[in-house]
Amino acid sequence: MSVVRPLIAGNWKMNGTFESLDQARALAGALDETPVGCEVAVCPPATLVRLMAEALAGSSIMVGGQDCRAEASGAFTGDISAPMLADAGAELVILGHSERRAGYGETDAIVAAKVEGALAGGLRPIVCVGETLEEREAGWALGVVTGQVEDSLPPSLAGMAFAVAYEPVWAIGSGLTPTIEQIEEVHRAIRQVLVRKFGDDGAKTPILYGGSVKPANAAEILAAAEVGGALVGGASLKAADFLPIIRAL
Ligand code: PEP
Repeated sequence: MSVVRPLIAGNWKMNGTFESLDQARALAGALDETPVGCEVAVCPPATLVRLMAEALAGSSIMVGGQDCRAEASGAFTGDISAPMLADAGAELVILGHSERRAGYGETDAIVAAKVEGALAGGLRPIVCVGETLEEREAGWALGVVTGQVEDSLPPSLAGMAFAVAYEPVWAIGSGLTPTIEQIEEVHRAIRQVLVRKFGDDGAKTPILYGGSVKPANAAEILAAAEVGGALVGGASLKAADFLPIIRAL
């Protein structure tokens, strides 16, 4: 695997309509004027993937999906596949987000199958892991997260470009963030699993932090050990908020 740059990805979740593309255009304009050293991606809802890819054509910003099914096609009403996302212009896909694990019963095995589907469809997976507040309070955070990394990442990721996002469930959309020591402890534990599973490549895989990243806390979080970027929800919706986070790296 060649040199891997940090990645900052925006997860728009179920937000955004046609006019929201203006935010992506504003971000692209600012980054074209003053480029950054990291990779930047925006993951809009599926309805906007093609439009956003067209709006961002020629810019440095990649477009990603927020989920995909493991299968490439078939009788799966309402679902979307990796080849469909790629056909619409996506280069990445978020998988195993806690909102899908909790709301749709996505197990590690399902996430691993989706990762296989994403790779087969030519997408770079961003695989999310993270403990609930109850799990952290019980002292299980490291065990839960390393178990998710172990079981959500199939061996076929060896040699492929992908990222892991550590997103403590209790920090998502809550305004709460772990301490820097807690972030570093979990990221170091994730790194150990990645190296054990993927050798030298696992030493380079970006481990993103996600959960209430804002302009005010981005610099400190992004400077923490083993933090290779961020997955940003609410603060990625407006270019004026997302840009200072990207520039904080
Ligand atoms: C997310 O849901 O991936 C996320 C990080 O959300 P927020 O930044 O809003 O906490």
